[in-house]
Amino acid sequence: MNVKNYVIKQAKLVNGKRIDILVENGIIKEVAPHIESNYEILDFQDDYVSAGWIDIHTHCFDKFEIYGDKPDLIGYPHGVCTVVDAGTAGSDTIDELYQQAQKAKTRVFSLLNISCTGICAQNELSDLSRLDKNAIIKAYQKYPDFIVGLKARMSKSVLGDSGNQPLVFAKEMQKQVHLPLMVHIGTAPSLLEDVVNMLDAKDMITHIFNPKDNGILKNHQIKDCVYQAKKKGILLDLGHGSDSFSFEVASKAFEQGIEVNTISSDIYFRNRLNGPVYSLVTTMNKMLYVGYSLDKVINCVTHNAAKALNLLNLGDIEVGKIADFTVFKVVDQDVKLVDSMKHEVISHQQIIPTHTIVKNEIYTIGEEE
Ligand SMILES: [Zn+2]
Repeated sequence: MNVKNYVIKQAKLVNGKRIDILVENGIIKEVAPHIESNYEILDFQDDYVSAGWIDIHTHCFDKFEIYGDKPDLIGYPHGVCTVVDAGTAGSDTIDELYQQAQKAKTRVFSLLNISCTGICAQNELSDLSRLDKNAIIKAYQKYPDFIVGLKARMSKSVLGDSGNQPLVFAKEMQKQVHLPLMVHIGTAPSLLEDVVNMLDAKDMITHIFNPKDNGILKNHQIKDCVYQAKKKGILLDLGHGSDSFSFEVASKAFEQGIEVNTISSDIYFRNRLNGPVYSLVTTMNKMLYVGYSLDKVINCVTHNAAKALNLLNLGDIEVGKIADFTVFKVVDQDVKLVDSMKHEVISHQQIIPTHTIVKNEIYTIGEEE
């Protein structure tokens, strides 16, 4: 259903406050305890309302068989207003991703792979001739509002014998295009220590709770370089994925004061259908289980996610921002959750999205369009 001008009455926020939100032409025009208006009233009663959820690490481009999906299979039907394709496309394929994105009901952005091919195969950074400076600049000039950052996958199976060279390239590129950079970590090389040394404030490391030797723990303790990363202002992203989320690592990190800035799924069709990812909200529920507060979990997929990628019109319920909202319940109901190590837990509380409002359309979750 199309909704352009409306008031959300007595929206319940995660901080417990209730507010009226007036939306005109898809933009938040007023936020106040009580608003008088002739516009249509939306009343979500006891469900929570937050800014629209943003998943900053997905694979929502279905050109390549290896990792891919469609934005509208991972987005609005699951309460996710915005999905960011994290490097499935490079400069060779950005036109196609852009065309697909224009047709989606879910909002889509791209973190452009620094390899011109994108993830056409697992080893997109094993051939250094795929690092094409001019092609990246051209792509960004063509799609300045769509390409919101760069993506470099710095792990053994991706790099082959390239060493840290692709990350040197990514940092050089970043100086030219002034975009956020997301770096994926996994099995070394690259060493986590090297990645931390090469990154600066506001750069992002994704797959932070992966269970590999090159992850954040050594003998169950947080490695020094992770504290250094925090000190430098490097942002930590969850990036669940098929192999990169361990309850044990996330819980140990939480106990030792290391929390993520952003919660993302690294979803694509296989881990959506067969697990362990299933959806962004499943990943959010895992962090509730680990001990994050509801407020923190929602902040990670709204304010923090928008801020990390300079999506300044999204991520908060504030005057002037785009009126994307996610409506959800929090129920005391047992749910079985599984991590990438096939470790199962039973959580007693879960977030369940009920409505998605994005691009001036309201969707009731669970109802066929
Ligand atoms: Zn990924």
